[in-house]
Amino acid sequence: EAFNAKVAAAKALNAFLVETPDHALAAADAADKARAAGEASKPLAGVPIGMKDLFCTKGVATTAASHILEGFVPPYESTISQKLWDAGAGMLGKLNMDQFAMGSSNETSAFGNVISPWRRSDGGNAALAPGGSSGGSSSAVAARLCPGATGTDTGGSIRQPAAFTGISGIKPTYGRCSRWGTIAFASSLDQAGPMAQDVRDCAIMLEAMAGFDAKDATSLQLDVPNWEAGLNADLKGKRVGVPREYRVENMPAEIEALWSQGIDWLRDAGAEIVEVSLPHTKYALPAYYIIAPAEASSNLARYDGVRYGLRDLPEGAGLQDMYAATRADGFGPEVKRRIMIGTYVLSAGFYDAYYTQAQKVRALIARDFERAFEQCDVLLTPTAPSAAFALGEKQADPIAMYLNDVFTVPASLAGLPAMSVPGGLDASGLPLGLQIIGKPLDEQGVLNASL
Ligand code: GLN
Repeated sequence: EAFNAKVAAAKALNAFLVETPDHALAAADAADKARAAGEASKPLAGVPIGMKDLFCTKGVATTAASHILEGFVPPYESTISQKLWDAGAGMLGKLNMDQFAMGSSNETSAFGNVISPWRRSDGGNAALAPGGSSGGSSSAVAARLCPGATGTDTGGSIRQPAAFTGISGIKPTYGRCSRWGTIAFASSLDQAGPMAQDVRDCAIMLEAMAGFDAKDATSLQLDVPNWEAGLNADLKGKRVGVPREYRVENMPAEIEALWSQGIDWLRDAGAEIVEVSLPHTKYALPAYYIIAPAEASSNLARYDGVRYGLRDLPEGAGLQDMYAATRADGFGPEVKRRIMIGTYVLSAGFYDAYYTQAQKVRALIARDFERAFEQCDVLLTPTAPSAAFALGEKQADPIAMYLNDVFTVPASLAGLPAMSVPGGLDASGLPLGLQIIGKPLDEQGVLNASL
């Protein structure tokens, strides 16, 4: 009965694209058997996890929430999902998301919006966006349909949905988590990470997910630290940087208040607060919205109607017609917009003006962080410039949607570990998130400051 109630709740939120209760039950059974046999229990023994539909799962339909992958059943398991099963976890189902992870509200999914379990307390019962692109993950965890879910973060897709739904999520240093078997969006930015109720659960999940993988050329050849054992909320001797440039124009008062509250909390935990400068911050968003679409346009060239999923082969059509028909039908409007922007900025006539410039900006942003980290151990910022907005509110205006990523994109461009944790509620009772950004490979510092 409890299970059926959860299934009904899940259906109402549209968080799951595929349900795989047998997979989760098998993991639970295996955990029970191991316990009965007196074996040491695995770190995630029997834990039912939701998998973002960007991860290929062997024998289970994987679509990246796009029609173009309808009917695709991967014959292999992504490294991330395999590592979670090896740690004893089971899969409850595949989670809805923004199509190919492009979006900030989960509204670009070909299979309908995900709805946040939150509602405003001050009247107005409008359905709220769960954030994106990992909106199925945030909604499922916030509604307690599963204790943890996987997310991916290219420009904020773990952190912003975590902030919108009052949960925690960490994007590790670029290269910590293997990208093998994860459907590519922007390969130089994509990172997997956990989304869960609290920092400890994220640490446990991240330990299972991270690690070297020879099948991903950008995977870091490093041991995975024991992050859970290293958790320590005492910040004595630590310096927390507050970047001046994140105090953006027209920042809502409640986001200011959230940030001040976060500063007080970290000071109370023993940290010294220092103001730092990241002078190129304002160029991060435009650079990201050149680099990410450029890489996406290249990665998405493979969906040609031949190799995976959908194939539109009109009567008497040739190969070119098949490509055109399949891609016209299969990709949603936001994906098409990214492909057009990406191919434009990579085209011979505009490459230097856009793509090369954006790469230079990316290097400057990374250098800004390097300099700031000479003065501090971690940075504290808000995760997003607002609380969750109503579904539909920003759908017609891509720029308004892109502005959501203003605080998350810089750490992505620099490949830094960054986490969002709940920071309290706004005046209408909606959750707000605080972001901790760390030095390369200092997930421990990020987790500790987030505790
Ligand atoms: N909202 C950003 C975008 O649409 C980030 C997406 C992501 O991190 N996957 O590109």
